[in-house]
Amino acid sequence: MDVEAIRQDFPILSQGMIYLDNASTVLTPKPIIDKIADYYTYYRGNPSRSIHSFARKAEEKLVEARAISAKFINASPEEIVFTRNTTEGLNLIANGLKLEDKGNIVVTALEHHSNFLPWMRRCQREGREFRIVYPKKKDGTITLEDFMEQINNQTRLVALTHVSNTLGIILPVQEVVKVAHERNAYVVLDAAQSAPHMPINVKQSDVDFLALSGHKVCGPTSSGLLFIKKEYDNLVEPAYLGGGTVLNVEPSCFEYINPPSRFEAGTVAHCELMAMADAFEYVARVGLNNIFQHDRQLMKIGNQLLENVKGIKIYGPPVEDRTSIFAFNIEGIDPTEVAMILDSSNNIEVRSGHLCAQVFTKKVLGEPEGIVRASSYFYNTEKEMTMFAEAVKDIVDTMVS
Ligand code: PMP
Repeated sequence: MDVEAIRQDFPILSQGMIYLDNASTVLTPKPIIDKIADYYTYYRGNPSRSIHSFARKAEEKLVEARAISAKFINASPEEIVFTRNTTEGLNLIANGLKLEDKGNIVVTALEHHSNFLPWMRRCQREGREFRIVYPKKKDGTITLEDFMEQINNQTRLVALTHVSNTLGIILPVQEVVKVAHERNAYVVLDAAQSAPHMPINVKQSDVDFLALSGHKVCGPTSSGLLFIKKEYDNLVEPAYLGGGTVLNVEPSCFEYINPPSRFEAGTVAHCELMAMADAFEYVARVGLNNIFQHDRQLMKIGNQLLENVKGIKIYGPPVEDRTSIFAFNIEGIDPTEVAMILDSSNNIEVRSGHLCAQVFTKKVLGEPEGIVRASSYFYNTEKEMTMFAEAVKDIVDTMVS
């Protein structure tokens, strides 16, 4: 992987910023920005509506985008619902999936609010038991044994993240799917943090539903996808009804159109979705295995340079069990102050606070103000990671007594 060549696709990087907030959103490469402009210029007909050739041209391109998106996670095109982001996909399932009886729903303490709150609310509304899997290990790692304490024969659904957005921990998805399916429970996977950094294969993992965001995989904002396993698409009630969702409407009844269109009410962000598919191909060309190894190397550098520095607490398991996230705190300094200093003094962009995972940061890590998170992607360099570590050390030297 030629990082210097890749960086040419991200002009803003030549302005000196060290962007380490990739778990939040990633930069969009110039070729994808050009594609967006191209689609807005030449593909602005409304797909799946009008019969004229300009609309059909957009429709054909969107069909192609769906096929590319399906290939990215090894699904079939009809299993791909276009969404705005992971949050929308997860809410669509949490609100729409029919569950037979009042059995429990299991989530983990590591979940982002987007894969926690919709399930909590559903349980509250329907009088279901809401079960949370807490990690026993102090480093936050969740094991299959931890899951086994919460999953039982009354479990109807398990919702888990593939990779934690706070510490980059990789969860044992395939093992969880196996035990959940043995108990006839569905599995919903939040792939927001894994899809940008490792290959996703829904056939291999056998998850029933999966959501991801295009903006974290080099695509535009307001683009995402929801995978619904073919055999379950009739069990999901669409969140919205309107144009594009029906075959036939009478004064007193209507007939749904087949999935996935049924779930895509109204005019979709088709130019963004076309560019999301291009972004998937861009990232696939860089190579997801290359990206995974590159991120790991950067995390190793961060660890080596900071692990023995007095006053710094690094969270999470060893680098070998994480993806691209370096989470830490500096003793006695508010994490948000650390992030502000890194930005104002060093032009280094990181995230701080609870990272939309308050149960994890407060209850598991025991950090009332949260943590600082530096997260890398394939365009970050070893030099940048070293500069980040040195900037953190400087803060320790000047502020920790
Ligand atoms: N889940 C996880 C694990 C995330 O990291 C994020 C984004 N930080 C989301 C869900 C929500 O993604 P979006 O804001 O794109 O809907």
